[in-house]
Amino acid sequence: MDLDAARGADENSKGAVQIGTATAGRSPQQSDAVRDLVIVGAGPAALSAAIYTSREDIDTTLFEKGAIGGLAAITDWVDNYPGFADGVEGLKLADAMRAQAERFGAKIELGEVMSIKTEGNLKKLDTTEGDIYAKAVLIATGSDYRKIGVPGEIEYYARGVHYCATCDGAFYRDKKLVVVGGGNSAVQESLFLTRFATHIDLLVRGDKFRASDVLQQEIEKQKDKITVHFNTTTDEIAGEEGKVVKVIGTDKITGKGVEFITDGVFVFVGLDPNTKFLESSGVELDERNFIKSNDKLMTNMPGVFVAGDVRSGATMQIASATGEGATAALMIREYLEGHGPHLEPNLYG
Ligand SMILES: Cc1cc2nc3c(=O)[nH]c(=O)nc-3n(C[C@H](O)[C@H](O)[C@H](O)COP(=O)(O)OP(=O)(O)OC[C@H]3O[C@@H](n4cnc5c(N)ncnc54)[C@H](O)[C@@H]3O)c2cc1C
Repeated sequence: MDLDAARGADENSKGAVQIGTATAGRSPQQSDAVRDLVIVGAGPAALSAAIYTSREDIDTTLFEKGAIGGLAAITDWVDNYPGFADGVEGLKLADAMRAQAERFGAKIELGEVMSIKTEGNLKKLDTTEGDIYAKAVLIATGSDYRKIGVPGEIEYYARGVHYCATCDGAFYRDKKLVVVGGGNSAVQESLFLTRFATHIDLLVRGDKFRASDVLQQEIEKQKDKITVHFNTTTDEIAGEEGKVVKVIGTDKITGKGVEFITDGVFVFVGLDPNTKFLESSGVELDERNFIKSNDKLMTNMPGVFVAGDVRSGATMQIASATGEGATAALMIREYLEGHGPHLEPNLYG
């Protein structure tokens, strides 16, 4: 079945579909429409997918509960996205992606998707703006870096306090850094940051690492550059004249306050994928609650795809999110064109 045929089939099936509450701001006509594709989120993965699908006349609606452009829109400066030799402001990059998607007809609605269910051949999405039906869904809801919740963390966010070494490490060439965390990513990213920083104080709340033995051996080899402080809490990130200057903590053994002079702080205490809304959907998650997919980026739920930071195995970069968005779009096109056998759920895994 080609797309036009699929649309025709939809027209016929509309009467049979029970549409949920139409809410203020959405005309009945809009509420009743069955969309070809609904994308949850409007970050780089979502916007890239929307550029591809809407350009190919796949009726595409995005739902965004926060900032259009996702984390990219709130990132001060992006130095590693291809095509910008001198780097680019995150907001500028996000705005350009949005404009490109809208140029081809993608519709972006502000609202939160609260659940996804399968109803016959369609997916029903419960949103803050009312229920909506789609033939295919792309989940591109990203993930949030876990915060430590201490004074100064929000104040100096992206201006001295960071959560992504690949993104922001290069800003600290020949500077001193503090890293907070004791798991694999804290150790791995500290090792990575030695490429730039002259010295790193690594603050670990517990009395040992939760990182792999191999990584711990690597840290040992870097002891000239990385000083590990076990049993040390991070209590405050303090600054002067808009710049981070020190981290104030407590030595849990002595109970005494400790201070670490620094130019910046990297926090690696985990990532929380935005998948809570999928709790009763049947979409399969991994042990860290990221969404599992097959090599076509389809989840275990036929017609529900995933791209970007929320996908199990994602590399948490804008370039990879946009690449996955484009890949998902092509797979969704095939799915909509005829539910090709290679996209059947039995190949999931
Ligand atoms: C401070 C910082 C600096 C960074 N710097 C760089 C960098 O220099 N280079 C780089 O490559 N990467 C960088 N990154 C990482 C990059 O921003 C992400 O990898 C990228 O934005 C992921 O894109 P995404 O589309 O998968 O998810 P996101 O950008 O997280 O977008 C997901 C969107 O989905 C929305 N959403 C979530 N749940 C729902 C729901 N239920 N309903 C509706 N909407 C929902 C969210 O509000 C969000 O807008 C940085 C990240 C941070 C935090």
